[in-house]
Amino acid sequence: DQAVLAAGQSKYAVVPYPDAQGRRHWMESWKTPLLEEGRVVGIIGYGRDIGDRQQLDQTLSVREQHYRTLVEQSADMIARYDREGRRLYVNSAFAALVGVEMERLHGTTPSQIPGGDHIPLLRRHMETVFSTGEPLEFELDWTNLGNRPLTSLVRFTPEFDGEGRVASVLGQYRDITELQASRRKLHRLAFHDELTGLPNRALLQDRLRQAITDAMWHKRSVCVMMVDLDKFKAVNDAMGHAAGDELLRAVAHRLSESVRAYDTVARLGGDEFIIVMPEVRDGADLGRIANKILRAVDQPYQIQGHEIYATCCIGIALYPNDGGDGGDLLKYADTALYLAKQEGRGAFRFYSKTLTASAMDRLMIESGLRHALARDEMELHFQPQIDFASGAVVGSEALLRWHSPLLGQVPPDRFIPVAEDTGMIIELGAWVLRQACQAASAWNGPGRPRHKVAINLSSRQFQRPGLLETVTATLEATGCRPGWIELEITESLLLDRDGRVADLLAAFRAMGITIAVDDFGTGYSALNYLADFAIDTLKIDKSFIQALGTDRRRAELVKAILSIAGCFHQMVVAEGVETAEQVRFLRENNCHFAQGWFYSKALPHAAMTALLTERAPLRPAPSEA
Ligand code: C2E
Ligand code: CA
Ligand code: CA
Repeated sequence: DQAVLAAGQSKYAVVPYPDAQGRRHWMESWKTPLLEEGRVVGIIGYGRDIGDRQQLDQTLSVREQHYRTLVEQSADMIARYDREGRRLYVNSAFAALVGVEMERLHGTTPSQIPGGDHIPLLRRHMETVFSTGEPLEFELDWTNLGNRPLTSLVRFTPEFDGEGRVASVLGQYRDITELQASRRKLHRLAFHDELTGLPNRALLQDRLRQAITDAMWHKRSVCVMMVDLDKFKAVNDAMGHAAGDELLRAVAHRLSESVRAYDTVARLGGDEFIIVMPEVRDGADLGRIANKILRAVDQPYQIQGHEIYATCCIGIALYPNDGGDGGDLLKYADTALYLAKQEGRGAFRFYSKTLTASAMDRLMIESGLRHALARDEMELHFQPQIDFASGAVVGSEALLRWHSPLLGQVPPDRFIPVAEDTGMIIELGAWVLRQACQAASAWNGPGRPRHKVAINLSSRQFQRPGLLETVTATLEATGCRPGWIELEITESLLLDRDGRVADLLAAFRAMGITIAVDDFGTGYSALNYLADFAIDTLKIDKSFIQALGTDRRRAELVKAILSIAGCFHQMVVAEGVETAEQVRFLRENNCHFAQGWFYSKALPHAAMTALLTERAPLRPAPSEA
C-alpha cells in the first residue's frame, strides 16, 4: 500500500497468505491510487483468493501440457529462435520436414542445418522482427536435407521479455509445397504453350510491354523477331502431325539455345515463334544474330528416325525506330517476315525504312525482269558434266545468266526467286527450255556422241497446268529428242502427295525424258519418294561435296547416297566438285558423273560448242595425272 501511495501508480501482484488452518493460500491483488487534484488521497484495492499453491501449480501444469501437446503435435513446423538465430525449441514436425532428429536441431542455426540459398532471406526477416517487434509473414522456397524442394508459408511472431524487448522469435512454418506446385502448374497452363513449354501470346505481350517500359526508361532499344518455318506444312503432310510436333519442339529448343537468358522466345501457334530481345544496345549487329538463328534452325533434325532439314525466315522490328507499342511491333515484324518469305527460304528482313535497301533492290529486280527477255538480256550458259569412267564431257547443265544494264550481272539465286514469286518464271522457264533444246539438237548432230542437257525446272512450272504440253511442243519445234534432255526438279516438289507430280514425272519418263533430283540431301529427305517417283538421277548438293575431307559425317552421307542410288538404279551427279581430292573420293566410291569448277565453270553457248568439237578431255583424272 505504501508503495502505491508513494509512486502514485497501480500495482498488480500475486501474494501468499495463510488461511484459518494455517495453509498457504495465494491471493491475486490489484491496487490503484485515488487521485484528487493530482494528489494521492487513498487507495482502491481488490483481492481474490486463487486457491492454494498446489492447486495453482496443477492448473498451470495442465494448461502447459495442453499447449505443449498442441505445439508438439501441430502439423505446422514450429521453432523458437534467439537473437543469434539459434533454435531454442523445435517441434517434431520441424525436425521431420528438415529431415533430422529433434535433438540435433537444438542450439543450431538455419545456416548450419539445413543451409541453402534461402538463408539470407530468412535471416533478414528474422532481424526485422527482432528490431521492429512486429510479426511478419512471407513465403520461403528452401530445400531440406533430403534435397527435397519445399515451399513454406512462414509466420514470425516476436516474444517479449519483462522489459518489452524482443527476447525470441517464434517461427511457424506451414508446408505449402503442393499448393505452390499446383499454382505453378496453373501459371504454366495459362501462360505457356503446351506443345513447346514456351511462353504463349499472353505472356509474350506482358514481357514485351515490360521490355518497352524498361527500354523507355533506360533509353535502349527492344528487338522483336518473328520466326516462321519454311514449308512446315509439307513436313506435316508428308510425315504426319506427330512428326510435325516433334519438329516444332526441336525448333523451339534451338531457338531458346541461340538467344540470351533474358531474351524471351514465345510461340504464337502454328510454326510461328517470336523472340523479344529487351536489351539491344546501339549498333548491335542484329543481322549477325538473325543469321545465327537461321543457322541454328537449319542444322539437320532427327525426327522419328529420319533426318529432316528445316529452314525459317525472320522478320525484324525495333523499338523505338519502328514503333512505340508492342502490338505495332508485332505487326511490323510480321510485315518484315512477309518480305523475307518473298525472298525465299532462310532469309531475314528488317521492317524499318532505313534498312529496306534490299527491298528496293528487289523492286528493281522485279521491274528489270519484266523487260529482260524482250530486251535480250538473258543468256543461257552450260556447265559441263564429266563421266568419271571415261573422263569425257557427256552432258551439261543449262544455267541462266542475266546481264542487266541497270544492275549488272545478276546471279540467278537473286532473280529466280523473284521470277517465281511474280509468276514471270513461267515465261522465263519456257524460254530456257527452248534455248536448251535448241542447243541439245545442235550438239547431238549426226555422228556425234550423245550429249544430254539438264534443265532446271521451278516447282511453279509444275503447279501451272500445261507443262507437259509446253515440253512436247518445244521438243517438236526444236527437233530435240526426249533422250537428249534431263529435267532437274527439287526435292520439295516430291512432297506433293496429290499424285499430280507423280503422274507428270511418269509421263515425262514414258516419253524418254530423264528426271534428276537437284540439291539432293538439303531438302526433306523423305526417302520413300525415291521409290514412289520416276527418278533417274540424284544430284548431290555441293555443300556435301565441299565438306568432303573436313566433315566425316557428311562424307559418310555421300557414301550412303551413292549406295541408295545404286539400289534404285539411279545415276549420281556430284555437284560443285572443286578439288582433285573430291574427285578421288567420288571415283573411289563409284560416283558416275561430276560437275564443278574443277573441270569448268558454266560456259556461253559458243564456248561450249568449241569444247565439244575439240573433244579433248577437260582434265586428266587425278589417278592418271
Ligand atoms: P543449281 O541448280 O544447284 O546450280 C548449280 C549452281 O552451282 C550454279 O550456280 C553453278 O554455277 C554453281 N556451281 C557449279 N560448280 C560449282 C563449283 O564447283 N563450286 C561452286 N561454289 N559453285 C558451283 P548458278 O548458276 O549461280 O545458279 C544458281 C541457282 O539458280 C541454280 O542452282 C538453280 O537453282 C537456279 N537456276 C539457274 N538457272 C536456272 C533456270 O534456268 N531455271 C531455274 N528454274 N532455276 C535456275
Ligand atoms: Ca540444278
Ligand atoms: Ca544443285
